[in-house]
Amino acid sequence: MRTHLEISNLHVSVEQTPILKGLSLRVRGGEVHAIMGPNGSGKSTLAFTLMGHPRYEVTDGSVVLNGQDILSLTPDERSKAGLFLAFQYPQEVPGVSVASFLRAACNAHRSSEQELSVMQFTRKLRDKMAALEMDAAFANRYLNEGFSGGEKKRNEILQMAMLEPKIAVLDETDSGLDIDALRIVANGVNQLLNPQLGIIVITHYQRILEYLKPDFVHVLMDGRIVRSGGPELADELEERGYDWIREGIAN
Ligand code: ADP
Ligand code: MG
Repeated sequence: MRTHLEISNLHVSVEQTPILKGLSLRVRGGEVHAIMGPNGSGKSTLAFTLMGHPRYEVTDGSVVLNGQDILSLTPDERSKAGLFLAFQYPQEVPGVSVASFLRAACNAHRSSEQELSVMQFTRKLRDKMAALEMDAAFANRYLNEGFSGGEKKRNEILQMAMLEPKIAVLDETDSGLDIDALRIVANGVNQLLNPQLGIIVITHYQRILEYLKPDFVHVLMDGRIVRSGGPELADELEERGYDWIREGIAN
């Protein structure tokens, strides 16, 4: 079945303050959606809400992934249902290698009968790393310890490859990505995209979209998607900023 995420009329408050005010978005497998918008428009709020962060209170609306109501699930259950959020994993775990972390994460998604043997896991990891053109030695590094910005991104993309989610949300807004890291994310996304996987890239910058060609671009402003279009919308935002859209709404 082709993946289908339906976000309808989502209202979210943080400490009683409404942040998202009726956000609707449909993402299907094989599609890349870029969500852009000025600082403070609610982009990260959307990501945290999808993850199930307790600070973000959903006051109205629904999020349904392949027929399943996501909002009633714990963050862990959401992950098992196929939702992947790039920032959901620990920042730095000394003494735990990338490989052993990934094995634990993969097996947490499986029943005990279906757990991958060390050999099955190793083969899968090797195949995914080869597909992503990653150096095999990376798997033996300690998780995020001393990782550069680019290596953190590589690790995120590898997690995504190994967990095979249905919907991946990449919030790139505040990460100060250099061009190398942007390329890693874009190449990884392009490699992994398939009819079972839909991707939401949240970004403040138009830059990443030079490498990663979104099918749809959405502008989030004051807690709502106020404009949607194709990749040309990102070019227009780069040229003209956000004010012209703001004025269009006011009129
Ligand atoms: P963006 O990612 O688009 O820059 P955010 O979703 O981070 O925007 O923030 C949207 C608004 O919600 C901002 O006004 C911000 O101050 C507020 N906000 C977000 N998260 C929190 C929080 N945890 N506590 C208090 N205010 C928050
Ligand atoms: Mg943000």
